Amino acid sequence: MIPYGRQLIDDADINAVVETLKSDWLTQGPRVPAFERALTSYCGAKYGIAVNSATSALHIACLALDVSHGDIVWTSPNSFVASANCALYCNANIDFVDIDISTGNMCVEKLANKLAHAAVQNRLPKVVIPVHFAGQPCDMARIAELAQKYQFKVIEDASHAIGAKYRNNAIGSCEHSDICVFSFHPVKIITTMEGGMAVTNRKSLSDKMRLLRSHGVTNAPELMSNPPHGPWYYQQITLGFNYRMNDIEAALGLSQIKKLDSFIDKRNKVADLYNKRFEACDLVNPLLVNAVSFSSYHLYVVRVANLSQHQKSVLVEKMREQGVFAHLHYIPIHMQPYYIAKGFKQGDFPNAENYYRDALTLPIFPNLKPEQTDFIADTLIALINSQT
Ligand SMILES: *Cc1c(COP(=O)(O)O)cnc(C)c1O
Repeated sequence: MIPYGRQLIDDADINAVVETLKSDWLTQGPRVPAFERALTSYCGAKYGIAVNSATSALHIACLALDVSHGDIVWTSPNSFVASANCALYCNANIDFVDIDISTGNMCVEKLANKLAHAAVQNRLPKVVIPVHFAGQPCDMARIAELAQKYQFKVIEDASHAIGAKYRNNAIGSCEHSDICVFSFHPVKIITTMEGGMAVTNRKSLSDKMRLLRSHGVTNAPELMSNPPHGPWYYQQITLGFNYRMNDIEAALGLSQIKKLDSFIDKRNKVADLYNKRFEACDLVNPLLVNAVSFSSYHLYVVRVANLSQHQKSVLVEKMREQGVFAHLHYIPIHMQPYYIAKGFKQGDFPNAENYYRDALTLPIFPNLKPEQTDFIADTLIALINSQT
């Protein structure tokens, strides 16, 4: 079975992990800050806070921006549930902005309209979380203009988009956002097994997130309410969590990040091959990648015209029978029973819902071979032709 995504672990990665296991530090050693420095220097941000998942990074990012009871957070319905759950962890209200169906990303016109409405009703969001779907950056300059106009903060969910560029700037530079969040789950672009990172250019946000990552505890005398009792002393000054990354994960991340550019290059080559194959097939439409962006191609998604939900289910089953693990990203978050129970309903975000009916994720990962890409394209085209 060809999976839809998979990690690429080589001997250097394995050696880095084994070396760490033999070292004095399994947790909280030198490799976590080294990984933070490697990643922030790659993407051009000032501060990086490594944590145990992107979900944790989203949570502490919201808390650092003071999201709390009564606040409103908006994100994209075409994402993993974690993009929305982070607001609920802070007891805030969540809402969504519908997508541009041709890219899968939050639609900036819809965002602008929804903001204009919300301003009239005095229901503006405190934070908006655009998601760089499949690795293609959202239109961050326009989102930043709206953030200025309506005074909200921006957290980029870049779980798909390490290595991507927006107008020649690496995603993670935070040029147009307050905080940017990455995931290092094995299915993502580089992996630390479980892991994530929040990056920012603002020291105050970095300081807050660092405290929240580890119990709200500090050993910095300047933050304490009284002088330290001795060298053992620490104080808890806020309510934090244990969201720390460990040194084994960071060692893997340090080794993986060296290969990031080659991974992205290989992913783009796979996507080019698919794009060429589907040019001749009117029924299969790859997601559009706009001219100012460079996608990291975490996912390769096509939209298949004229498919009912049932036909697509049969199509995916048949592809899996033939050894191609086709998948689907994403079931719109607002259609999850948990969110329906909060009052969302079918029809709330029609583009995300129509996209869900049409979309199909095909395998993409760095060492997917051209013969496999061809085989996958052939299989899909043959199945669609036999169905229609
Ligand atoms: C994977 C993913 C997350 C969560 O990442 P974890 O590291 O598994 O917590 C959040 N948002 C998006 C868009 C993702 O794809």
